[in-house]
Amino acid sequence: MKIDVLTLFPEMFDPILSSSIIGRAVNNGIIQIDVYNIRDFARNKHKQVDDYPYGGGHGMILAPQPLLPAIGHVLSKSNADRSTVIYMSPQGKVLNQDMARCLAQEPHIVVLCGHYEGVDQRVIDKFVDIEISIGDYVLTGGEIPTMVLVDCVARLVPGVLGNPESIKDESFSRGLLEYPQYTRPQEYEGYTVPEVLLSGNHREIERWRLKESLRNTLKKRPDLLKEAELLPHEIELLREIQQEMDVL
Ligand code: SAM
Repeated sequence: MKIDVLTLFPEMFDPILSSSIIGRAVNNGIIQIDVYNIRDFARNKHKQVDDYPYGGGHGMILAPQPLLPAIGHVLSKSNADRSTVIYMSPQGKVLNQDMARCLAQEPHIVVLCGHYEGVDQRVIDKFVDIEISIGDYVLTGGEIPTMVLVDCVARLVPGVLGNPESIKDESFSRGLLEYPQYTRPQEYEGYTVPEVLLSGNHREIERWRLKESLRNTLKKRPDLLKEAELLPHEIELLREIQQEMDVL
């Protein structure tokens, strides 16, 4: 997969592109991430990239020049059979795991980071396939949202995570939150690990994990359960949990 990022602050991306799992995937050539400075495409003498909004109002707007030639450039350089152009925007569809899973299957993604009061609408109309938000709040720029997007998409690309099984049970993979996790020691300052996890009985461990995953979801994100497609034995477990909660 190839990801091209267009930003006014390319240096912000250095740490995430060279560290941890994403850094390793880039070094191993599993994903290619190129970061372009939008200012390099400005044709005016002072390399100005923004201008005042028509109609008046606060702030500055990123202008069609240099954005249109910048996006045109990365699209024309790509060998992929298709490209998806994303504009990170608080007005976009809120990012979730399903969107990340779909994007992880795309061969080429172009991500535009806005700044100031945003970008000229004509840029969105001409090139943008999807506007993506990372939540209902406003940040100063699209760089942090882009890092969030790149991280959650890249880890779903085959070969990026050492153990692909690790995404099987994790939160949102089936519309549920993950079960609680424990590591050594078995007891720490009087706090113990649930007995079942030490039993070696894999059937029981699996049942406990499923039940605790359902309990976590019911307690923390009951909204997810409305959408989850639960199997009969999972509905039975959920009833058991609700009865346990009623007793308390
Ligand atoms: N004036 C815009 C509005 O009201 O919709 C907000 C502009 S914001 C200050 C500047 C840039 O930050 C946006 O162009 C976008 O790229 C990015 N941004 C801010 N909040 C975001 C969010 N929640 N999700 C994704 N991108 C965001």
